[in-house]
Amino acid sequence: MMATIVEPTIFELSSPGRTGVTMPPPDVPTVDLPSKDLLRSELPLPELAEVDVVRHYTRLSKFNYSVDDGFYPLGSCTMKYNPKINEDTCRLPGYLFTHPLQPIETVQGNLVLMYELQEWLKEISGFAGVTLQPAAGAHGEFTGVLMMAAYHKQRGDTKRTKMLIPDAAHGTNPASAGMLGMSVVSIPSDERGNVDLKALEAACDDTVVGMMLTNPNTLGMFDEHIEQVVKLVKGCGGLMYGDGANLNALLGIVRPGDLGFDVMHFNLHKTFSVPHGGGGPGSGPVGVSERLLDFLPSPLVGIVEEGDDDIEPLYGFVTPKHSIGRMKAFHGHFGGGLVRAYTYIAMHGPDGLKDIAQYAVLNANYLQAKLRGIYTIPFDRICMHEFVAEGRFEGSDVRALDIAKRLMDYKFHPPTNYFPLIVHEALMIEPTETENKDTLDRFADALIKIAEEAKTQPDLLHNAPHTTPFGRMDEVKAARELVLCCWLPEGYDSEK
Ligand SMILES: *Cc1c(COP(=O)(O)O)cnc(C)c1O
Repeated sequence: MMATIVEPTIFELSSPGRTGVTMPPPDVPTVDLPSKDLLRSELPLPELAEVDVVRHYTRLSKFNYSVDDGFYPLGSCTMKYNPKINEDTCRLPGYLFTHPLQPIETVQGNLVLMYELQEWLKEISGFAGVTLQPAAGAHGEFTGVLMMAAYHKQRGDTKRTKMLIPDAAHGTNPASAGMLGMSVVSIPSDERGNVDLKALEAACDDTVVGMMLTNPNTLGMFDEHIEQVVKLVKGCGGLMYGDGANLNALLGIVRPGDLGFDVMHFNLHKTFSVPHGGGGPGSGPVGVSERLLDFLPSPLVGIVEEGDDDIEPLYGFVTPKHSIGRMKAFHGHFGGGLVRAYTYIAMHGPDGLKDIAQYAVLNANYLQAKLRGIYTIPFDRICMHEFVAEGRFEGSDVRALDIAKRLMDYKFHPPTNYFPLIVHEALMIEPTETENKDTLDRFADALIKIAEEAKTQPDLLHNAPHTTPFGRMDEVKAARELVLCCWLPEGYDSEK
């Protein structure tokens, strides 16, 4: 039986005459509204008491699942626990109540934090410069690709229009290159989950802008030929873009700048514990090598007046020589992203960051080992921070989606599914370093039980979830026919 609850909307709870507000007596003269037409009678505002509104939204909030509720192994997304000290620091009044248009002399604390974060990200990644502006990873990619294009253009090298992107890549990579009118050449993966070197070599010529590579890639595999890959791309005059979404696996161990990457975005909301999943705010700083330093977006935070023994330096804004310009209003997501990430890095320090990477990799390998033999693991070697299993069994019509939905009955957030595209019925599992062994064991046990259920009671999976407030959704219909308001104005025609 489906346990679907029909939740009344706030409009259905409304009753004429109820109210939750007490307006103070006006302290200005009252006037008539200029025109009756400004009052739209077809906008029915709900009428409820405060207690009704509080209960309605509190009830709805309990339908949510979050990393504060339980395990959230959403591969590629790095849903690690968000330490609560981040919430304290980003609400410090000195950060909270500043405005980006204040004179720099009055916001030195904010600027020092941004400057140090730029420096720390440089040190962590091995890059020569960092911008904090981009609003998310995809925005960072676009920023990086703009700089790559500007670099070639400045050298008068105008025939470069091709971006090489492995078939395991996240969809934002081809989208970022496509937005600049570049053509995308897909490079296949070899049987060990590396970039296929022969295919790469064949695609390298003097029309290549560069390559966008995620390493470790979305299969959770560190490319075993990374040095050759970089050499081939640079050999034909291209630049290496690093998609840094998986930096969690490398912290304190490998620096992408040292591997020869020219540019890379960081996802502060993945690697550096800024909360995400509810739509933002993300933060996607971008690091660059010496070659691209002059092209960074402006402004960057810099020292505008050197200090000495007695005087603190003055921090302000600087503009790189060939800057691609501004990528974001003001200075990026300061409180929501930068202060939280700064706190996280400060709390961990260099050794702590290295621990993060090592535990993330250990946890993923532990889970992979527990599930090996029960689920097919198509690229089966030591993984990094995540791995991809197939959500299908010989002789069964159970699919990855059924397994993902059934996991909800076991009170786990499903892993990412159907990505990367090169694995059939993909289940992409990223436990992160913040989970203990008990949680990993419970999760593995659930997946092992589900594999058994797939054989004995497949319909239990086909119809899952059974214990959530809402049952199996029609996700395609939900995306295609999205209804965001719960009433429609009279005469509204959905065909238009
Ligand atoms: C998350 C992710 C992105 C995009 O980052 P957003 O911050 O979501 O825009 C790009 N590539 C990979 C591999 C990712 O996992």
